Amino acid sequence: MPGHPFEEMGPPARRPASHVHRQLQRPLQRENPPTRVQKRPKETPYFAVFEPFEIIYCQSCKELVPTSSIAIGIHLQGPCYGMPPGPKLDKAALQARALLAAAEDDRNMIRRRGELYARAARADMILPEVAWLRPPASGYFCLLCGQPRRNRAVLREHMRRVHDGEKDMWGTTLVQTLRSAGVDFLTFRVRRVRGRGGG
Ligand SMILES: [Zn+2]
Ligand SMILES: [Zn+2]
Repeated sequence: MPGHPFEEMGPPARRPASHVHRQLQRPLQRENPPTRVQKRPKETPYFAVFEPFEIIYCQSCKELVPTSSIAIGIHLQGPCYGMPPGPKLDKAALQARALLAAAEDDRNMIRRRGELYARAARADMILPEVAWLRPPASGYFCLLCGQPRRNRAVLREHMRRVHDGEKDMWGTTLVQTLRSAGVDFLTFRVRRVRGRGGG
């Protein structure tokens, strides 16, 4: 009978060199890029990631929260979850923060919104309508830079400030808006999804 269980372990098995290992992995599928937004592929019981914008939102109020364990912890203590300070809250906050482990902490939400708006302005950023947000509404977008807005007066102000008062270069579009801290934070273009309800 063997003595200590480690005695049964021989020398460590040789692993293939890293380049060989890489070749063994399945190739990336590039032929059919996903066209639909996946529904909450990453989540905790309290928060989830909205992939197109790489933001964390609360599963209760659906508002964007800053990518920061402190901000997430504050939200957990608020009306959505009413969690008292303590180890359970700390753990939940760290788990939610880890949903976007590779992202930097959000320290400046005005700058952060600028980055999100730049992403929302991209021509490929017309998302299938998002079921868990307020329904799509008619809005406007700038033909010169792609920025979407809910409100025509706000878009007019954008044209005035950014495009020298250009008047006619706008179009209409469906939009949805993510809120944060109780106010509209990020508006983006969407298209209707036919036959939704089947999943
Ligand atoms: Zn909430
Ligand atoms: Zn513009």
